Amino acid sequence: MTTSDSGTLNAGLGNSAASRDVASVLHPYTNFTAHEKTGPLVITKGNGIYVSDDNGNSYIEGMAGLWCASLGFSEKRLVAAATKQLETLPFYHNFASRSTDPTIDLAAKLLEMAPVPMSKIFFANSGSEATDSAIKMVWYYHNAIGRPEKKKIISRKRGYHGVTVASASLTGLPGNHKLFDLPIDRILHTETPHFWREAQPYETEEDFATRLAESLEDLIQAEGPETVAAFIAEPIMGAGGVVVPPRTYFEKIQEVLARYDILFIADEVICGFGRTGRLFATETYRLKPDMITVAKQLSSAYQPISALFINEKIYAALKKGADEVGVFGHGFTYSGHPVAAAVALETLKIYEEDGIVDHVREVMGHFQKRLRDLNKFDNVGETRGRGLIGAFELVADKCAKTPFTPTGWAGKAVAELCLKEGVILRAMGDSVALCPPLIITDEQIDDMFDKIEVALGKWQQAI
Ligand code: PLP
Repeated sequence: MTTSDSGTLNAGLGNSAASRDVASVLHPYTNFTAHEKTGPLVITKGNGIYVSDDNGNSYIEGMAGLWCASLGFSEKRLVAAATKQLETLPFYHNFASRSTDPTIDLAAKLLEMAPVPMSKIFFANSGSEATDSAIKMVWYYHNAIGRPEKKKIISRKRGYHGVTVASASLTGLPGNHKLFDLPIDRILHTETPHFWREAQPYETEEDFATRLAESLEDLIQAEGPETVAAFIAEPIMGAGGVVVPPRTYFEKIQEVLARYDILFIADEVICGFGRTGRLFATETYRLKPDMITVAKQLSSAYQPISALFINEKIYAALKKGADEVGVFGHGFTYSGHPVAAAVALETLKIYEEDGIVDHVREVMGHFQKRLRDLNKFDNVGETRGRGLIGAFELVADKCAKTPFTPTGWAGKAVAELCLKEGVILRAMGDSVALCPPLIITDEQIDDMFDKIEVALGKWQQAI
């Protein structure tokens, strides 16, 4: 079938998976007009850090899918864990005091691993749902402790926290708001901690961090501290372009939050489980969050599952509120799904038994060095990253940091050339992100960057 309901003819795509895709799938984060012309890249198999398409082309998955497939694409132990749980008990829920062994074991394990003291784990299916649950719990918390006016939540421009109505409101990217009638009220955005792009020429990283903390404090003052409930941040911003915080940033931000009794939510959906070279980026940046969200690497993406850690202060308030109402009226059918929980539990076991965080620490120096080497290209303005995450930003003029116009074409062009060389990366505007599976070796890092360099070389010659 080559004709969609809208009458679009995709004769070039033939009667293939591509044409059926164009006729039937509404793709997230996709330009539909371009997609109708090109069709999808249909991935059919995975092996280690590689995936291959329906034409047999193999690619290094330089983004671990969507920052998530930490153990690569063929970890047999996860398949076995899922199969075993499917055979034992494929589903049971957590509502009304029901539970299952994998859910209990996973929650206990996460609390044992928690980077700061935490009291309970709430399970959901995606990062967005974990964020949404955090927002609802912030509001519930303040109502329960008798501060109903303290409700506003501050996020950051270019932050990414999901796409549900409330989590997309926290997300600080225009494309997630425009035409969607977002953000909703009670959501505010403060400055992006991108030193290279946003700092004044005379500012050191520390000066810049001080200015951003002052700007946050000004916002809180302007809104009224009694109305500001919480602040949410990714330790390293991911989808906003991989923004690594400047020195002293979180120290200064946390001082401001403490001054006005504002809750701190660390969004570790990308950073959690080793990405920055520590189990949690909360340790990397010495954070003291009241809540932490995790997803993605929690199950190495083999099952959809996310978790929200809450501390004792939050739990005590939720308990008080639920006593008053009769029940805590929140939860998803699949909260703590036993198959997803069993896979996540096995993922965490593999992290420990295979020393995955130690492995990240061993290879991340080489990854960051090869990333920094990309600065030799005339149109690479900045390389940035930490651990096994990073990005390079393309500019029209390196000295003046002048962006290309229109924004985004350069990032897209380079990501497409990388794909042709056999590396899947992700362009976010004119920044191109790298976030490979945590199991990547030094040799594979070299192979990946050699291919990226070939792509960048070809692109430099063409422009
Ligand atoms: N938070 C962060 C930091 C993310 O990177 C993402 C997704 O990329 C989310 C939340 C939302 O997760 P999901 O796409 O699973 O809803």
